[in-house]
Amino acid sequence: MGLIVQKFGGSSVANAERVMNVARIVTDTYKQGNDVVVVVSAQGDTTDDLIEKANEINPNAHKREMDQLLAAGEQISISLLAMAIEKIGCPVISLLGWQAGFNTNSIHTAARIKNIKPNRLQAEIAKHNIVVVAGFQGINRYDDLTTLGRGGSDTSAVAIAAALKADKCQIFTDVEGVYTADPRKVDNAKKLKEITYDEMLELATLGAQVLNNRSVEMAKKYGVELEVLSSLNPIPGTIVKEAAKMEKMLIRGVTKDKDVALVSILKVQDTPGIAFKIFSKLSAKNINVDIILQSFGRDGTKDIVFSVSKDNGPIAKELLEDMLDNCEIVCNTDVAKVSIVGAGMESHPGTASKMFEALYETNINIQMISTSEIKISVIIDAEDADRAVSAVHKAFIPND
Ligand code: ADP
Ligand code: ASP
Ligand code: MG
Repeated sequence: MGLIVQKFGGSSVANAERVMNVARIVTDTYKQGNDVVVVVSAQGDTTDDLIEKANEINPNAHKREMDQLLAAGEQISISLLAMAIEKIGCPVISLLGWQAGFNTNSIHTAARIKNIKPNRLQAEIAKHNIVVVAGFQGINRYDDLTTLGRGGSDTSAVAIAAALKADKCQIFTDVEGVYTADPRKVDNAKKLKEITYDEMLELATLGAQVLNNRSVEMAKKYGVELEVLSSLNPIPGTIVKEAAKMEKMLIRGVTKDKDVALVSILKVQDTPGIAFKIFSKLSAKNINVDIILQSFGRDGTKDIVFSVSKDNGPIAKELLEDMLDNCEIVCNTDVAKVSIVGAGMESHPGTASKMFEALYETNINIQMISTSEIKISVIIDAEDADRAVSAVHKAFIPND
């Protein structure tokens, strides 16, 4: 018995039957004597559909209005789930983000949670209500609605678990846990029993959609242990927790991220301060640069290549063309990043060469490489990405 936060993603509440299924999971937990706070996402593809509707009318609409629109998706799910729970006969109340005390900054469509004022949540729990909260949304200091960025409901759930010091935070989704690769794309992907916050953060940042990376960051910061599990198959999922007492695996997972563009600045002047000039310009425009490669200078010039998100590629190109003379700037959006993640590689030489061998044997050319203690990423042609993930996965994760 305790306080349990349960989060259900869009596919788990996609239709009436699925909503009733979620209501049964929630009420079973409640009937076992627990207090339950439930966080839900918009049904199925609702958020995508709303974005499409907006684009039909005005693709450059103010982001404040986008938030007014997108917040509606989660409003539908909380009320429907509350009705389903009521039908089963348990006391329930649904709350929008602002009613649940979610205060955020004012960056519309990508807001950050500043704090949660938990008074209302606590009052409803004290009345023994099951509380159903709209994920992905909050309110800023001007009383305007905000949303947290795609996949943000995971972060809403972790934030509530941290604010209420919940005993458990369960993230229910449409797969049975966190796998060594996307189980919908890689045949032999294996479900992990457990994974560290740091490894999960890397996997999420490098393209494993199953958890939003900010939610993992927050779970680590506040020590919220997460369980990722299926809403359709009630078996134990994957635990995301601190590294202590966890077996180190060489590779915990392989990911693919297609949201990458490469910008190449060819034959730029080889003088002191040029890198500073380029990257300070990009950072002033909030363009996040990921991997950077610089060639040796020759005949007074050098090449600088860097990766950014796909949207930012053409923007960076245009900015730099306005700033730099006498050089050529090329933006390639047909690239992808494939990565391996695992704390075991820290103490295991030869991990990189094993990854490169797998790519070589599949005849895939590497354009850029970046490494950290627990990850190795390569940039390759987008059309090679799926083959690369399969080849690298096969090299590191044995078949049963
Ligand atoms: P939800 O709607 O429940 O938030 P998401 O679609 O955001 O669910 O995330 C679940 C999906 O993440 C899965 O259907 C799966 O295809 C994908 N996925 C990608 N990488 C992984 C991985 N390593 N482990 C599990 N699922 C993954
Ligand atoms: N509904 C939002 C989205 O589709 C938030 C979420 O699902 O977590 O991104
Ligand atoms: Mg999600």
